Order: sequence, then structure tokens, then C-alpha cells
Amino acid sequence: MNILDRYKIDLRQLPCEGLTYRFELSDSFFEAIEATLVKSGNVIVDLRVNETAGTFMFDFKIEGVVQVPCDRCLDNVNVTIRTENELKVKLGDSFVDDGDMVVVEEDDAELNVAWYIYEFIALQIPLVHVHKDGQCNEEMINALKQHLVNVSQDVDGEAETTEKVEGVTDPRWNELKKILDNN
Ligand SMILES: [Zn+2]
Repeated sequence: MNILDRYKIDLRQLPCEGLTYRFELSDSFFEAIEATLVKSGNVIVDLRVNETAGTFMFDFKIEGVVQVPCDRCLDNVNVTIRTENELKVKLGDSFVDDGDMVVVEEDDAELNVAWYIYEFIALQIPLVHVHKDGQCNEEMINALKQHLVNVSQDVDGEAETTEKVEGVTDPRWNELKKILDNN
């Protein structure tokens, strides 16, 4: 069984008074979802599903800590997640997700909320995510700086080579050529 299967919500089984789910996300969740930004974390998701007049309200309460690579040193940096999100779901002929409302095929009457949970978490990640001052991996930063220095030295090296090639036409070379020609 795929570990993401447990995030399927069966809308037909929903009792009148609604239902509460609790998901405990760990690294395996983020590995299974194969997203690029968040690769690990520990997050608790409390989901409440209620139905009113054919509309299912999904209320997510999401709290925890996830890790993303630091923009400066590339080591993992912790980001605290605390968010509440809402999803409206209806049954219909075919699957539609227009951002405000998700329509689930009536024959399935099932919605997997794994990707929605991931997106709610990813939306909480700030655009710039770096360690606090002094907490970056200095070794890694130095290695990155060294790499940049090497790259710029290579460029200088090429410039020197070009000068030497141009130097071939200098008068001393012509004198040498005369001597060689005479022999
Ligand atoms: Zn860092």
C-alpha cells in the first residue's frame, strides 16, 4: 500500500455529524510526495470534514516543523509551520479543481488530501529561508566561495593565453625565424 493512500477521504462514509482525522507527517510523507522544496519534517494535521447541503467543508489545522535547504549554505534550516486552511469539496461528473472548489467524481466519492496538505505547508515557506546569523555551515560557505574564486581564476588564465598567442607576432620571434630559415 502506498503510504499516501491513508490520506484518502471517503465522502460516502462520512457520518452526519462529520468526522475528524489526525495525520502525523514525518520524513516518509515528504519523500513519498516527491516535492522539490520540502524534503523532511514533522507536522501534525488535524482535519475536520463536515457536510452541509451537498458541500463538504474540509478544515485543516496544520502545525509542525519542516526542513528546507538554506539559501546561503545549503544545509537544512528549520521552518515552523502553523496554518489553518479550508477546502470546499462537491461531488460531480468529473474531477475539477479551480482553486476555490474541488469537484470529486461521484463514482469515486473520494479525495486524497496529501497533495493539498503539502501545498498548504509549502505556502508557509518564506521566499528567503536562511539560518540565523552565525548558524550557517561555514565550511560549506567557504567551499562555495573557493569554487567561485577558482572559476574566476580560470577566466583570467584564458585571457593570459590569448596574450601569449598574440605575442607570437612580436619582433623577437621574427628574428628567430630568420635564423631558422637561414639554416
Ligand atoms: Zn545556512
